[in-house]
Amino acid sequence: MARINLQQLKHSYGSTSGGEPDYALKEINAVWEDGGSYALLGPSGCGKTTLLNIVSGLLVPSEGKVIFDDVDVTNMPTSERNIAQVFQFPVVYDTMTVFDNLAFPLRNRGFAESEVIPRVNEIAKMLELEDSLKKRAARLTADGKQKISLGRGLVRKDVSAIMFDEPLTVIDPHLKWKLRSKLKELHQRLGITMIYVTHDQTEALTFAEQVVVMHDGLVVQTGTPVELFEYPKHTFVGNFIGSPGMNILPAENINGEIGFEGCLIKTSSKADLQTLQGKLEIGIRPEFISFVDECSDSNNSSAIPVEIIRVNDLGKFKIVEVKHEQHLIKLISPEQYSIPSLSPRIIFDPDKTRLYADSWVVD
Ligand code: ATP
Repeated sequence: MARINLQQLKHSYGSTSGGEPDYALKEINAVWEDGGSYALLGPSGCGKTTLLNIVSGLLVPSEGKVIFDDVDVTNMPTSERNIAQVFQFPVVYDTMTVFDNLAFPLRNRGFAESEVIPRVNEIAKMLELEDSLKKRAARLTADGKQKISLGRGLVRKDVSAIMFDEPLTVIDPHLKWKLRSKLKELHQRLGITMIYVTHDQTEALTFAEQVVVMHDGLVVQTGTPVELFEYPKHTFVGNFIGSPGMNILPAENINGEIGFEGCLIKTSSKADLQTLQGKLEIGIRPEFISFVDECSDSNNSSAIPVEIIRVNDLGKFKIVEVKHEQHLIKLISPEQYSIPSLSPRIIFDPDKTRLYADSWVVD
């Protein structure tokens, strides 16, 4: 296993825009700890596969270094990096039995059968493949085959890391959850460094201890699921994580206080607004907005008058879409709460209201 250190990585596939190289990765600095589980999360085209290929050795970066423990592996081929990879589509030998498929990476490296047999049986048990060990791989369903791929990645004890590139894409939705939980359990039992690429936030947040959110060739935040939810460092993280995502609203400096379309808003930021530059925005999650209670809160000066546009009742709670000026705002309201029909007004929880300048949070 290895600690992976990415230093000032940049990558351009050779294309240019206006004479400047067009970077698929703009600059990545990261340390992924030995034995950790990480998910690279971001929309299509943000650079996840490029980064994965640089770490696994399929691609040499245009600039920067990849260090495994203390060894600079930037120019080393995949075969010398001791990386196991699991791809979107299962890679199995259909004519071999499940046992022989799982044993392949060990036999290929010259391990004795006395080591191969117990290890294959151990991994097969973890993946609930014991009853299929004598079957030909061709007879397994798509998820059974992907379990073999996962098993082939996990079977070696000596790997630096296992990289998963969208491994559950071909799996039926109802089995995805099961396999994801299994992977998490395997990580906890085996303690191998795991890097998991996905564009699906549920997959990333349920699998990984640390989620690396990528946007437009940059890592915009690395954090636990709770950190990404509670304190998005970039408006992209706020909006991408959560369902619905964070509301991002324009803000202005009104004599040293934050305003949103003329309403004064308290935020968690302690910054001196006079020194702030750039485009100001506030971010507030739907979970932290509530309607003003006319009885107890009628004089609340930071209440924002709104028009109710739509109510989606999801059984346990309601997602309410409201409008202030031309801005749509989503809030989550408890199921039993009756939504005010006369002059509704909303308030933001000040401790959960974040201030952003040029898309980056202001502490
Ligand atoms: P997806 O989820 O769709 O796989 P991704 O986040 O993995 O997307 P990458 O595949 O790393 O993103 O692509 C990042 C950028 O690099 C994109 O703009 C893409 O068009 C470009 N790119 C990727 N591979 C190549 C290539 N071989 N040649 C030129 N440009 C490429």
